[in-house]
Amino acid sequence: MAILTMTGYLEARPRVGYYYSGKTVNSLLADRVKQIKVGDVKSVPVVVNGSQSVYEAVVTIFLEDVGSLFVINDKGYLEGVVSRKDLLKSMLGNANLDKIPINMAMTRMPNIHITTENEGVWEAARKISEFEIDSLPVVRAVENENEAKEYQVVGRISKTTITKLFVELGYR
Ligand code: ADP
Repeated sequence: MAILTMTGYLEARPRVGYYYSGKTVNSLLADRVKQIKVGDVKSVPVVVNGSQSVYEAVVTIFLEDVGSLFVINDKGYLEGVVSRKDLLKSMLGNANLDKIPINMAMTRMPNIHITTENEGVWEAARKISEFEIDSLPVVRAVENENEAKEYQVVGRISKTTITKLFVELGYR
C-alpha cells in the first residue's frame, strides 16, 4: 500500500479512502522528469571571448573535452556558440587559424537557443532535439547600460547532461 501511494498509483482522500489515481507508468515518469529543473543538473560552461582565434578555440575544445564553446563579448555577455563543425568549416582553405577570430566562425545572437535555471530540463531536452544542436547555454537575463536585454552565461545543458540524467532515472 505504502509503495503504491508513494509511486502515485494510489491516492488517499479523507472519507473516500484509497483510490486509483489513473496514472500510468509513463505519466508518472513524465511527472517526475518535468519536476527536474535545468538548475538542478546544469554543468559548468566553457566560455571563450569572440576576439580569440579559431586556433585558440580548437585548443580549448581539446583541453576542456567539450563539443562546443559559448562565446562572450568584452562585456561578458553571450555573443554566440561555436561548435566542432563550425571550427572545421572555418579551417577549410584557411592556413592562418590564429588570425581568424572565433566570432567569424560562430552562430551568433539572436539565433542562439537558450535555457534558464528555472526552466524544466524536459523543455531544454526538447529544444536540443528539435533544433538538432548539442547544447544550450544556461543564461541569466540582465540589462546593459542602454537598458537592452543581454544574457550572462551561468551553465550548460548538453546531450551528455540529458543522457546521464536518463541513466540516473533508470536506477531509481
Ligand atoms: P556540430 O556542428 O559539431 O555537429 P551542433 O550540432 O551543436 O554541433 O551545432 C550545429 C550548428 O548549430 C552549428 O553551426 C552551431 O554553431 C549551431 N549551434 C550549436 N548550439 C546552438 C545553440 N544553442 N543555439 C543556436 N545554434 C547553435
